[in-house]
Amino acid sequence: MRSVCLKQPGDIAIIDVPMQRREPGGVLIEVRSVGICGSDIGAYKGVNPLVSYPRVIGHEIAGEVAEVADDETEFRVGDRVVIEPYVYCGKCHPCSIGHTNCCENLAVRGVHTEGGMAEYISHPRHLLHRVPDGIPWRLAPLAEPLVIAMHAIRQAEVEAGQHVVVTGAGQIGLLAAQYALTLGAVPIVIDPIAERLTLARSLGVAYTFDPMETDAVAGILSITEGRMAEAVVECSGSAHAIRGAVGYVSYAGHIALVGWPKGEVPMPTALFTKKELTVRGSRNSVGQFPESLRLIAAGRVRVEPLLSKTVSLAETPAIVADIAAHPEKYLKVNCVL
Ligand SMILES: [Zn+2]
Ligand SMILES: [Zn+2]
Repeated sequence: MRSVCLKQPGDIAIIDVPMQRREPGGVLIEVRSVGICGSDIGAYKGVNPLVSYPRVIGHEIAGEVAEVADDETEFRVGDRVVIEPYVYCGKCHPCSIGHTNCCENLAVRGVHTEGGMAEYISHPRHLLHRVPDGIPWRLAPLAEPLVIAMHAIRQAEVEAGQHVVVTGAGQIGLLAAQYALTLGAVPIVIDPIAERLTLARSLGVAYTFDPMETDAVAGILSITEGRMAEAVVECSGSAHAIRGAVGYVSYAGHIALVGWPKGEVPMPTALFTKKELTVRGSRNSVGQFPESLRLIAAGRVRVEPLLSKTVSLAETPAIVADIAAHPEKYLKVNCVL
């Protein structure tokens, strides 16, 4: 079967690999659609420290059940599923307290183990979720970035009526802002790319700022009548935005850090104490796929406007290289098999 393999950073190609067999405890899936994620681009550029090489990339994976175990009762051949790609050990401390998303031995498909940019994949049966009929293949993989965004909004304890600043209007930021709207919160999106702010407004976000053009702190001060935002969800990984979050957040506010910074970011921790902030990491997600799929199917979170382009498996190596060279050209590209 064909797969998209990163032999090493900067070297991506379609390669032929032996046909995937169904693994014990797993379901064999014929892959129909795979999202190309920022972390795949990071792996291509060699700046994703979690990735080992050679590696078949892709962790946003949807497909059709092709083979199940004889005693399988829940899934049947032909079922449409998305994969929850975070394979946890179930034994370590975080797993023992239900935080399987940050398992010490986490094996994420396409990062630590082979991913979904291949014709077939075998995946543990307890990490599959049925895709509602109304969601076409090209959009189904977006259930994965949506659960990342939902988890971040939850880590920031966003509630109805609150203001939440979302820094970074890439796919995660735009999904986080939309999820905040479903909760009755008021998102304020900050990003230096004008087209992304326009897109955010078309998705129902009332307030957007370009931090290079305007004073975002003054803007948030006025929107929140002097209180500042109860929550900030940092989706960009930019040092400027991470540092900015401490200024955007209210006293007793919550910050969730979901973007991966390139290096260490110096922080004014005295302000954490003065404002009594809750600052949380936000990694992967836990238990949120069913709701993510419901929100997409119901159109309460709109994913179609985020999709810049779809490509075939054969076109994927070239598009990965182009996204790495010109990230501003694309918001989201999905590979449809
Ligand atoms: Zn992703
Ligand atoms: Zn674990």
